[in-house]
Amino acid sequence: MMVSRIIPVEPFDLVVFGGTGDLARRKILPALYRRFRAGQMPKNARVIGVARAAMDDAAYRAFAAAAIAEAGGGEAEPPAEGADFLARLGYVAVDAEAAAGWEALGARLRPGVVRACYFSVAPGLFATLADRLHAHALAGPGTRIVVEKPFGHDLDSARALNATLARHFGEGQIYRIDHYLGKETVQNLMAVRFANILFEPLWNARFVDHVQITVAESVGVAGRGAYYDRAGAMRDMVQNHLMQLLCLIAMEPPHRFEPDAVRDEKLKVIRALDPLLPGEVVRGQYRAGPGSAGYRADAQNPASDTESFIAMRVGISNWRWKGTPFYLRTGKRLRARASEIAIAFREPPHAIFDQQEGWKENVLSIRLQPNEGMNLRVMIKEPGPGGMRLTDVPLDMSFATALGAGGAVIPDAYERLIMDVIRGNQTLFMRGDEVEAAWAWTDPAIALWQAAGDRPLPYDPGSSGPEDALMLMHRDGRRWREIRE
Ligand code: NAP
Repeated sequence: MMVSRIIPVEPFDLVVFGGTGDLARRKILPALYRRFRAGQMPKNARVIGVARAAMDDAAYRAFAAAAIAEAGGGEAEPPAEGADFLARLGYVAVDAEAAAGWEALGARLRPGVVRACYFSVAPGLFATLADRLHAHALAGPGTRIVVEKPFGHDLDSARALNATLARHFGEGQIYRIDHYLGKETVQNLMAVRFANILFEPLWNARFVDHVQITVAESVGVAGRGAYYDRAGAMRDMVQNHLMQLLCLIAMEPPHRFEPDAVRDEKLKVIRALDPLLPGEVVRGQYRAGPGSAGYRADAQNPASDTESFIAMRVGISNWRWKGTPFYLRTGKRLRARASEIAIAFREPPHAIFDQQEGWKENVLSIRLQPNEGMNLRVMIKEPGPGGMRLTDVPLDMSFATALGAGGAVIPDAYERLIMDVIRGNQTLFMRGDEVEAAWAWTDPAIALWQAAGDRPLPYDPGSSGPEDALMLMHRDGRRWREIRE
């Protein structure tokens, strides 16, 4: 069994704007509680929820207790520890757009401890919050702000938001969240690449045939249809999450595992991406199915041309990757909830065995969800007499099994990311120029399909997306991996 070392972070005041929202309830509060239980949150840490609703500390603690119980999946809570954690929570009612309440909030904040403000509110309020924190003198040079997604809607809006934040905060104070970067497997991708000699020499166009990145969801957009319909899969998933995954696979080794060294290398990848041409993108929209509404009904927009699915072939013009396509796809209402990265290696240069029919390419696959882990398919001899027949077997490593005590729980991305904010480590957060570069790449592709009046292709719920997405790879003589849990 492997016991991870827990080093408590410094004392902190964490202000969660939007502290009664969905994200706070499902992710932020449960993540804080788990870190508290793990011994990472010091005794004198404070969490202050902020929203417009009138509520006192006791009511907020009850809200948090319910959120933690809901997230715990029935895990028995030791009551003493639960109460200990809840005692650290408080609540102040503030309307981000009004003048009242800020003084009361200021009175709760202590000098001499790390101060972090988590903007878990609608993106339209990010700039307002930055302005108000400054105007009410609640933020100083040491204050950190955590900004949720989406960071802008396009390049112009992202630039404007960066400019507003920069009026009051240095880049070193701004933590732009992409929770994919907090996933254990995603960080493992860097460890596997840069802490082993095995893969890096092969990690280039000479040995890698192609890379596939799939982020598939089985749910539709019902519930957040109004937001989603203005974004679509390109803005909601590709510009941030898939782009970040692509960067971690494609980037050069940073000289150190330090925030700017890592982010510099990611930025270079984004800048080397080829422009997306219309023939390299397939957009889809899910149909109604038995017992489930179609996209347009879920989005409450009968004429919507927004994509709930997108697949694309991306080229990277640099020495390492020229000639190795990266295929990306993501969508809603697909066959399963499954995210993975697959690195497919090329054929050996020469076949020495007579019977090559069992041959399959080596594939390193990295599962992000569910069941985080890695799997490397290698060719071996099929057991038994009668000649040399080949078969492929997996070298499988489920992290939960390999590292955990009887399948220990892998920490949620938010646990890691919030603690990184308190520690002041920005490695797993997006820098402003990275976000802008990603928009600068997605904007022209969106403009092209909008100008062409392109409409998304319908696909069946529970499928792998539109047929044309399969063709995107077939015509290159390749195929997508199956979407399965
Ligand atoms: P939500 O459920 O709508 O919650 C919004 C929160 O903001 C509530 O606590 C609300 O409480 C508060 N609020 C609204 N207007 C306010 C104002 N003028 N001043 C102060 N507080 C105000 O939203 P959410 O789903 O938690 O999302 C929060 C942020 O996280 C968004 O940027 C979203 O894009 C991002 N995000 C969410 C998820 C997710 O799974 N939910 C995932 C990724 C990113 P009152 O109405 O009482 O003020």
